Formats: sequence, C-alpha cells, structure tokens
Amino acid sequence: MGSDCLFCRIVAGEIPATVVRETPDTLAFRDINPKAPVHVLVIPKEHYADVATLAQGDPALAGEVLATAAAIADDEGLLGDGFRLMFNTGAYGGQEVFHVHAHLFGGAPLGPMLARDLV
Ligand code: AMP
Ligand code: ZN
Repeated sequence: MGSDCLFCRIVAGEIPATVVRETPDTLAFRDINPKAPVHVLVIPKEHYADVATLAQGDPALAGEVLATAAAIADDEGLLGDGFRLMFNTGAYGGQEVFHVHAHLFGGAPLGPMLARDLV
C-alpha cells in the first residue's frame, strides 16, 4: 500500500501522530477527533484493509494488535473501570480509513453498544 493510505503514511512518519505505544509490528496513536476521554487507534504496521482480512491473513498479528490495545488500556488506567475495543468494518460498519484499526475507548461510561436498536 503506502502513499495512498493515511495510516501507512503515519507508520512511515510522513504524517504526524501522537504515538502512545510502538512495538515491532504495531503502532498506537491518539485519534485526531476523540469521541471519549481516551480514544486511541491501534494498527498493525503492515497494511491490511480491515479486521477480517487481518484475522484471516495473519492471526498472530491480529493477536499483537489486541495485546497492544490491552497494554495501552493498562497504561491509561482503564482496566478497573473498563473500556471498549471496536473495529468498524466496511460500509455497514462505518469504516472510513481502510487500514485496519482498533478503536480503544475509555475514561468515562461509554453508553449503549449501538446508538439505537436496529431490530
Ligand atoms: P473509522 O471510521 O473506523 O475508519 O475511523 C477512522 C478514524 O480515524 C476516525 O475516528 C478519525 O477521527 C481518525 N483519523 C483520521 N485521520 C487521522 C489522523 N491523521 N490521525 C489520527 N486519527 C485520524
Ligand atoms: Zn495502510
């Protein structure tokens, strides 16, 4: 991927980000438009379009993304009160950036799972 992908460009250091954790294979940085007191995006450095492609293509790397998210939740003091991890996927999932990212939300009660019931 590379120059066409916003998050590949963050990995490459071409676009600035507030990095909170880096491992050999993952990067985590604060969302530019936070929706909660803690709102961090966790990505694999390698480009995968979405969580399904990542999980099917490299399950170990998917696990690394989760482990990085858990370490940040610990760093940010979220383990006691809880937090939410979310992968928006595809059109119905509301995905806007097609480099897989886990949203880590916390720091306040997060409300219902979805904004409204759909059934
Ligand atoms: P999604 O709708 O799941 O694809 O979420 C994309 C997220 O990326 C949104 O929450 C945006 O606020 C966030 N975002 C977009 N550009 C940047 C950026 N340059 N740095 C950090 N977060 C960003
Ligand atoms: Zn990418």
